Amino acid sequence: MKTKLGLLYGGKSAEHNVSLQTAKAVTAAINLNKFDVYPVYISLDGTWTEGEKLEAPAKTVEELKLTGNGGTEHVLSMLAQNKYDVVFPLLHGPNGEDGTVQGLLEVLNVPYVGNGVLASSAGMDKIIMKSVFAQAGLKQVNYTHMTRAKWEQNKEEACITIEEEIGWPCFVKPANLGSSVGISKCQSRDQLTSAMEEAFQFDRKVIIEEGVTAREIEVGILGNDEPECSVIGEILPKKDFYDYKAKYEDGDTALIIPADITEAQQKEMKELAIRAYQSLDCSGLVRADFFLTENGDFLINEVNTMPGFTPFSMFPLLWKEAGVEYPELIEKMVELGIERHAEKQ
Ligand code: ADP
Ligand code: MG
Ligand code: MG
Repeated sequence: MKTKLGLLYGGKSAEHNVSLQTAKAVTAAINLNKFDVYPVYISLDGTWTEGEKLEAPAKTVEELKLTGNGGTEHVLSMLAQNKYDVVFPLLHGPNGEDGTVQGLLEVLNVPYVGNGVLASSAGMDKIIMKSVFAQAGLKQVNYTHMTRAKWEQNKEEACITIEEEIGWPCFVKPANLGSSVGISKCQSRDQLTSAMEEAFQFDRKVIIEEGVTAREIEVGILGNDEPECSVIGEILPKKDFYDYKAKYEDGDTALIIPADITEAQQKEMKELAIRAYQSLDCSGLVRADFFLTENGDFLINEVNTMPGFTPFSMFPLLWKEAGVEYPELIEKMVELGIERHAEKQ
């Protein structure tokens, strides 16, 4: 019997387009002899639309932007009636990767791919994530954070405090986002002011970090109670930092797989990555991203609970190097989701 899989993509998030591109790739790779795939599009305004069972890979992203068919209410009732054996929330950023959709699926008792509610929401909020990592004894950059209300109260004073606590260069980021959306690197108080304004467009909480000069080294993790690491890779952004454009538009960021680090460093980083994974109670998968400083320290930057997932993204490429091809990786992720659900019953 085929597994009925609901593929959720799009999403009410700044990473909507990334998700659409990924969904197209997944429809091309997933084995339709094993899975009945039902596409479910979430538009930018948050309306859910279910499509017909997939007969062939989507040819264009436009084709995946479904409309009509009863909207959100229809999909919710399909979910509640257990139409799908498993749901794949192929969603990045808020309202998808952050535990909200995961919570909905929990309530409806539907198995799903990827991290549960807690890891998804803690992993989405860079401030919470960093405090959990600190508790787990993982090294990180210095950072501070601020709410919009505090910022609005006295911007000048806020800038002085940040300059004193963090200094230059610093990175300003919306607490809850990904794909580098809303992130700026600042070298001066003027730049800091506009970076804060920019980041507050996306979130009511902002994190400000010390900017480090370091290599960016990443590893994929798969598993539930016994997580395993992929091969380790390095990203070499050609620009100042790995911003949205470098990630998705320029295509000239080099991914170096395997990363040129020693065996001892690989071992150390894998141990740290597993510690990070377990500290946030992750399951299914993550991509754990580190800075490797000139002193040889691994500082954890973040984990991404639904990392970029086109066949050309780091996470699938790291697993490919480890011997797991893209279609097999999708199946493995689905199995892990079903397994976690079964274990909870
Ligand atoms: P996202 O979740 O959007 O990927 P990141 O925290 O990974 O956000 O930041 C995006 C990119 O910005 C990183 O890949 C890196 O190139 C750069 N960056 C972020 N924080 C720092 C920092 N503290 N020091 C140096 N570079 C940073
Ligand atoms: Mg991220
Ligand atoms: Mg990142």
